[in-house]
Amino acid sequence: MKRTLATLFLASSLILTACDTSDAEYDTDEQTEPIEDNSDDTSEGSADMNEDNDTNEDTDDEDELIDEPEESSYLYEVNENDIATIQVIEGEEANERVALLTYDDAPDNYAVDIAEVLVENDAPAIFFVNGMFIESEEGQAMLREIHEMGFAIGNHTHTHQSLPSLSEEEQTEEIMKTSDLIEEIIGERPRFFRAPFGQNTDHVKELVKEDGMVLMNWTYGYDWESGYMEAEPLADIMVNTELLRPGANLLMHDRSWTLEATPQIIEGLREKEYELVDPDLIRSVTPEQSESEETD
Ligand SMILES: [Zn+2]
Repeated sequence: MKRTLATLFLASSLILTACDTSDAEYDTDEQTEPIEDNSDDTSEGSADMNEDNDTNEDTDDEDELIDEPEESSYLYEVNENDIATIQVIEGEEANERVALLTYDDAPDNYAVDIAEVLVENDAPAIFFVNGMFIESEEGQAMLREIHEMGFAIGNHTHTHQSLPSLSEEEQTEEIMKTSDLIEEIIGERPRFFRAPFGQNTDHVKELVKEDGMVLMNWTYGYDWESGYMEAEPLADIMVNTELLRPGANLLMHDRSWTLEATPQIIEGLREKEYELVDPDLIRSVTPEQSESEETD
């Protein structure tokens, strides 16, 4: 009896929602995945057509499929011994042949344009932000725009100094000021940290971890070197360097030639069968950390 009632209720609510959603479509295209949307539509449609007990089980199966990515939202991590490399978390099933796109010293002049190009090419990336660039309203608007386009935001310190040359107090200020500002503007703290020039200290490492960020250097980058401050040679080396390997972390900057080279870099990496890894899938907190958070 209970079951029939539940099925009836389910069936009727399915009919209602099927009517509603078919017109409403999916406005929240944070991640434009037309294939997923289609499968959603057909599942509701078919449940609608056979209103018998079977539909209950059908929709349960469907739910499991949809829920799966949420149960294990992190599939990748930064290799602890080589903080440039992205690797699949042990025990998770994910593509190892990935590359991560990162853009530092943002948002200065070209970051929003770069983000737009990435969106056009359906390519995820991290933008590492210098706090000093987001003190102005203009900078804040740019950051907001990049965040709203769905990109991960990282902390690249406030004024881009060599951290080991600063006192611990100053190092803290350089990092926390930027995370606080980012949080004020986009409503969430950054999960990724990259030190200027890749120079970290023990104090920085501890601080970054405490604040729930993961340290990240890079595997290679060229857009600041003479000979590569032009789109053609830059795109070529970013794709054809011997340093490209699964898990590579590609460093680029808020520069005009990098903006221009980005579509070719994406295309070249994909031709070599690299998947561009979604930063949302990269774990920032260690398992020990999340456990202690739960018990606190
Ligand atoms: Zn930098």
